[in-house]
Amino acid sequence: MSATVASTIVVKIGSSSVTTDGAINTEAVDKVAREVVALCDDGHRVAIVTSGAIAAGLPLLGHERPLTGKNDALLRAASAVGQPTVMRAFESALIDHGRRAGQILLAPTDFMLRRRYLKSRGTLDALLDLGVVPVINENDAIADDEIRFGDNDRLGALVAHLIDADLLVLLTDTEGLFTADPRTNSDASLIEEIVAIDEQLEAAAGGPGSDSATGGMASKLAAAKIATWSGVETVIAHAQRADVLNDSLEAKSGVKDAQAGSVGTRFLPRPSKLPARKLWIAFALPAKGRITVDAGARNALTEGGRSLLPAGVTSVHGSFAPDDAVEVIDTDGVVFAKGQVGWSSADLVEHAGKRTSDIPESLADEVIHRDALVVLPD
Ligand code: GLU
Repeated sequence: MSATVASTIVVKIGSSSVTTDGAINTEAVDKVAREVVALCDDGHRVAIVTSGAIAAGLPLLGHERPLTGKNDALLRAASAVGQPTVMRAFESALIDHGRRAGQILLAPTDFMLRRRYLKSRGTLDALLDLGVVPVINENDAIADDEIRFGDNDRLGALVAHLIDADLLVLLTDTEGLFTADPRTNSDASLIEEIVAIDEQLEAAAGGPGSDSATGGMASKLAAAKIATWSGVETVIAHAQRADVLNDSLEAKSGVKDAQAGSVGTRFLPRPSKLPARKLWIAFALPAKGRITVDAGARNALTEGGRSLLPAGVTSVHGSFAPDDAVEVIDTDGVVFAKGQVGWSSADLVEHAGKRTSDIPESLADEVIHRDALVVLPD
C-alpha cells in the first residue's frame, strides 16, 4: 500500500487519446491500464470511463470523421461496431497487467430512475469489490436523441458521484486548463489549482457547452463543476504524462513531492455534497421553461431553504409538465435556481400569485418542493 489511504478514483479518457485516425492507440490504452492496475495493486478502487466507440467504429464501416449530427443512426451504428473494439483493447491491456475488465454501458435514465441508479451503483461496487476494473461508456447505440450525456466528461463526473469517488481524473491531449489557448498564445500558462468555477473561467474555456479553442475544455469544466459539487476533487491532465494517475492521487493527498512538477489543473471539491437527485436536476435534466419569482420568494428559496409556493410566482415562460425541470429566475432575469416542478405550466399560469388557501386541492402545495430545488451559486 502506498502512502495514501485507499481511495476510489474515476479515470476518464477521451476519443483523441484512445484512438489515432480511427485506430485504437494501443500504447495509450496500455499506459492507462498499467497505471490503473498499479493503483488497484496499492489497494485503491479504480473505474475507467472511456470514449472512442464512435471514433473507432466509423472507419470500420467505411466512414471518416468528422460527421455532424451526433444522433444520426449511422453514429449509433458506428458506436455498436466500435464499442467491442475499444472494450477488447482495454480488456486485453488490463489482463496483460493482471486485472479483469467489466463493461458497463450507461444511459441518463440510469441516473434518473432511483431503482436503476441503485442497480448501477450495486454492479459497479460489486466489480470494484471483486478487484475488477469497470470500463464504462455511454450506451451510444441506443442513446435517446432527446436526453443523452452527450460527452463522456459529464458521464465521468456522474459516475464519480455514483460510486462516491474521491478523485476524478480527466485525461486529455493537453496539460490542463490554460489562461489562454496555448496553441495560439505563447503567453498562455497552466492554471494549476481552481477553488471555484466562475463565469470568467467558463469564458476562458470557451463558454459553457461550446467546444472551445482551448481544446474541448468547456465540457471538461462542466464536468469538473458537477464533480466538485459532488465533493469529488477533479484533475484535468495530459494522458501521456508519466505517472499521471499516481501523481494526481498524491497531489490530492498532499504527499506529492513539490519537485515532481504540476500534474495538470486541479479543481478542489466543494465541502458540501449535493444529493444525487439534486445533482441530476442541476446538471443533467434539460430545462423546459422558466419561472419568475418575486424578491420575497427568492429570499425564501436562497436563504430560507424553503419550497417555491404559487404566491411568489410572477410569470411563467415555456410549456412544462409536472416533473419537468425549470429554471427559476428573479425579476432582473437572473437564473438563481433550478428545480423539478410539481405543477404544469398551464396550472401555474392560472394560479400564479395566489395564496395556497386559494389553490384547488388537486394541485400540490408546492410549485417546486425544496427537495427538488437546487440553488445555484452566485
Ligand atoms: N461515447 C462516445 C464514444 O465512445 C464519446 C462521447 C465523447 O466524445 O465524449 O464514442
